[in-house]
Amino acid sequence: MPPRVLEPESESTRREFLGGAVALAGAAVIVGSGLTKVAIQPRVRGQVIVVGAGIAGLTAARKLVGRGATVKILEARGRVGGRLDTRDTLGVPVDMGASWIEGLRGNPVAALAKQYGVATKITGESNALYLNGARLAASKAERAYALADRALRAASRWAERVPDNDLSIVNALRRSGAGAALTDPASFWALRANVENEYGSGMNRLSMWWYDGDSEFAGPQAMLPGGYSQLASALAQGLQVETGAAVTRVDHGSSGVEVHTRDGAVHRADVVVLTLPLPLLRRLKITPRMPRAWRAAANRLGMGDLNKVALRFDDRWWNESEALFGLAASTAPAVAEWWNLAPVVGQPVIVGLTAGTGSRFLEVNDDDAVIAVVMNQLRQVTGIDVPPPTRTDVSRWVGDPWSRGSYSIRPPGSTRADHRRLGEPSRTGTVFIAGEATDVKYPSTVHGALRSGRRAANEVISRLAR
Ligand SMILES: Cc1cc2nc3c(=O)[nH]c(=O)nc-3n(C[C@H](O)[C@H](O)[C@H](O)COP(=O)(O)OP(=O)(O)OC[C@H]3O[C@@H](n4cnc5c(N)ncnc54)[C@H](O)[C@@H]3O)c2cc1C
Repeated sequence: MPPRVLEPESESTRREFLGGAVALAGAAVIVGSGLTKVAIQPRVRGQVIVVGAGIAGLTAARKLVGRGATVKILEARGRVGGRLDTRDTLGVPVDMGASWIEGLRGNPVAALAKQYGVATKITGESNALYLNGARLAASKAERAYALADRALRAASRWAERVPDNDLSIVNALRRSGAGAALTDPASFWALRANVENEYGSGMNRLSMWWYDGDSEFAGPQAMLPGGYSQLASALAQGLQVETGAAVTRVDHGSSGVEVHTRDGAVHRADVVVLTLPLPLLRRLKITPRMPRAWRAAANRLGMGDLNKVALRFDDRWWNESEALFGLAASTAPAVAEWWNLAPVVGQPVIVGLTAGTGSRFLEVNDDDAVIAVVMNQLRQVTGIDVPPPTRTDVSRWVGDPWSRGSYSIRPPGSTRADHRRLGEPSRTGTVFIAGEATDVKYPSTVHGALRSGRRAANEVISRLAR
């Protein structure tokens, strides 16, 4: 999820301060009327299984262990982190999953990085747009961005007046008369960068009413030069994580749960916290079934398909001062938004982002075919004689069996309230749900996943304290 290209620094609608930033084992500091009281948080007893060792699962597990619960994490992959996936394919750490801490001010992920001594680096926002073989003058690029912005606003206003008919963004743009932004290559580029790559899906799958409007943290965007997986590894320290443990079924009653894994093992506990990505959560056999409202919310929400291509070169051939450059052409390039990672990793590396049609191209073709096409498009659209890359990597999050997509989206028919419903526990009070798709304020993000892990842990603590 890249920062938006066309907007000034976003304003947060809510400031969050980290409870527990000052770690006092088992104690909470309450400040009031000039006196500092220390309220002892009761320790809880009980066995908890957490399914999934992504940021949500690890956060929930840490909090629960800190309060005295016995916690086992079952993780299908051979590694922790889930959609935090720092790879070394290019000889330097490159994040093929999440890469930005989105807004440093008040962001619990920024606080976590600080707590574990993980370095962050603020990324710039300056950009250049190339069109059909040449760099577009800044004034023309600005005009194209403004056209895209106006079209989106017009379509949104128009859609507000169409009661009971939530349309996709593409349909709303066309039917509102703002469809010209889809055919002008430069403004279409802006729509791809600011809508498709930001919300992780083609505009044909995003609700005009609901695709947007989540809360955001203020402050600059930052990457982690050593990679996001550092945070997952730090959180996993000292936790009991069983990797290669794919959960296939959960049986639950008011007195406990049985969690079945693919190898035939049955794990028993008082409660379970499920943190699977939305498509896998939907498909998981849970007996008795989750309530109808929960299932309906899970089916209304969607999963995005953002993907990345990473390229390393012998030498930098792009402008050092630009944070990113865009490729606009009458036939839209498969990967049209390229970020300059050289200031972050210290080597000539660029990472391209793509969702929707471009992403599908990555999913169904092998690396050689993808690299041949993106290199051809880079040369044609920039007009630069781009040398061949020395190392490459391609992500395929939809084909990934333990993710089946990038992050949750709101297609037509879904609403923000669906995130809350998805996070509601079972009627038996023993199945709890976390993960980015359950955070109502900041879904689709690392900080949303982290918050959901804390929320679910608090729910479990209340349950075990009974
Ligand atoms: C390409 C891409 C770019 C992104 N960019 C950003 C960004 O810049 N900033 C940002 O804030 N967010 C970004 N995100 C979103 C962010 O990565 C996610 O919201 C967040 O990491 C999700 O964490 P989670 O714990 O909810 O899920 P996950 O990390 O997916 O964790 C769930 C875990 O469950 C495991 N699992 C699945 N099925 C089973 C099973 N049956 N049994 C056992 N285990 C199972 C999975 O292997 C996984 O480890 C991006 C995501 C992608 C894919």
